[in-house]
Amino acid sequence: MDFVTTWGGVSPELSDVELTTKGRYAVTAMADIAGQVRGDESDALAVPLSQIAERQGLPLAYLEQIFVGLRRAGLVESARGRLGGYRLARKASDISVLAVMTAADEETHFTQCTEGGPHCARETPCLTHGLWQRLGNVTSAFFSSVSLADVANRDFTAVRSRAASATAGRVYLDYNATAPLRAEAKAAMIEALDVAGNPSSVHSEGRKARRVIEAARESVARLVGAKPSEVVFTSGATEANAWVMAQPWDTIFVSGVEHDSVLAPARANGAEIVTLTIGSDGRVAVEEIAARVLSGAATGRTLIALQRANNETGVIQDVAAVTAFAREHGLFVHTDAVQAPGRIPVDFAALGADTLSLSAHKLGGPKGIGALVIRDHLDLVPLIRGGGQERRRRAGTENLAGIAGFGAAAEVALQDLATASRIEKMRDDLEAAVRAAAPSTVIIAEAAPRLNNTTALALPGKLAETLVIRLDIAGLAVSAGSACSSGKVGASHVLEAMGLPRDVAASAIRVSLGPETTKDDIAAFVAAWKDIASKAALAA
Ligand code: PMP
Repeated sequence: MDFVTTWGGVSPELSDVELTTKGRYAVTAMADIAGQVRGDESDALAVPLSQIAERQGLPLAYLEQIFVGLRRAGLVESARGRLGGYRLARKASDISVLAVMTAADEETHFTQCTEGGPHCARETPCLTHGLWQRLGNVTSAFFSSVSLADVANRDFTAVRSRAASATAGRVYLDYNATAPLRAEAKAAMIEALDVAGNPSSVHSEGRKARRVIEAARESVARLVGAKPSEVVFTSGATEANAWVMAQPWDTIFVSGVEHDSVLAPARANGAEIVTLTIGSDGRVAVEEIAARVLSGAATGRTLIALQRANNETGVIQDVAAVTAFAREHGLFVHTDAVQAPGRIPVDFAALGADTLSLSAHKLGGPKGIGALVIRDHLDLVPLIRGGGQERRRRAGTENLAGIAGFGAAAEVALQDLATASRIEKMRDDLEAAVRAAAPSTVIIAEAAPRLNNTTALALPGKLAETLVIRLDIAGLAVSAGSACSSGKVGASHVLEAMGLPRDVAASAIRVSLGPETTKDDIAAFVAAWKDIASKAALAA
């Protein structure tokens, strides 16, 4: 008989949390085998199921059934010979509890959604839908972080962040280039990889895949204050930006600090390009846009592309003020919001933009997945044509694992806002400390409204590339300008557009913090910066 726990106080219709004997027996039996293996033996011992059954007090017939699934999933191999039995197919430390649970068909998510839809048998998600969804993500992340070796050693320490361990031994301060994959996102992806169906198929496998996508769409929508129907998944923000820029515009206003994935397709559009002036604080003046529009620069169908926050300097643009003006004059506004979520609140409705681009890997999701958020009324010409996916807006079988990881990362990123001040304090401490340690340090756009996690620092006289290499050798990962522009000779177009003195622009590096950053990381950076600056002073 199955062991079922219904978590108290909530209608079982809405949220059953069930742990079946199948999952528990599978983990116990696998940990038993792991416990029989001493050290790191690769040709591990084969353990007869009868011995496991006896040692752990489990029914043998049930174990035999469970092990068929575990073998099919490639977690165990059956041994030939007199006693037979099973051995682990990989080292016990390389097999997660989640892998065993999944192979045993154990559910680790706790929402009960209607077939074909993400909602709890309702038109709108039930009050507690997000709660159970998050519980499922946390549970999966926990199961994914604990290995069979841990269980055999009775080490059940709470979720150890794989994101932190992925950069163990290094100081990773390059979150604006990409953030380490969050444990929750990884767990959601692993689970999604085992969903067999095509989300467009009508059978139950297909509907299961569809549910994964729609749940993630809700999470992403919630992250940016949009409706799920407004979120279209793309291969990343580069595609999302390219899609908007490829529309039949007559005129495109762009700021010179936009990402290349906005600037390049804008220039390729054939529309009249109006480049907006950037102040030395990295900001676009709404008054300039107004003046240009009023003097007749906005001819025909006009788009204004203005990023929410800059990837190199962290400078935040006043997008809401621009959209207010644009709306009065019938102009469209696109905002590249890739760097904003989890750092500042993003509210698509309040921003008033027509389109907004997002990228999962900047918020702890996987690389190669993003979204374009499109205001409901707006009909964009598809960039990728073919099948009817994404409500005919973006063709191609969906990147299920990527989307699942994006959704899980979005859920956690939303919670990060609560701890944003912790990161801001570390960033401010870093700036104060580098200035005290090396007074020649320039902090770019220091007085402008900036993302809490970003600082662009220059040591005039030193080349940014040299600084990045010196810091890398000292164990610290940072970028020179944007990661995408590394390899390019000369200063970044962003710093050039801001009109910074050449020696400042040529020596600017970007330091970007994230949820896993610690005070020790900051201290390590300051020490390395002081060291490099004192050597620079000696050499000068
Ligand atoms: N816009 C900005 C501001 C970015 O920082 C990046 C990533 N460097 C992109 C767009 C492109 O995003 P993706 O990597 O998803 O293509």
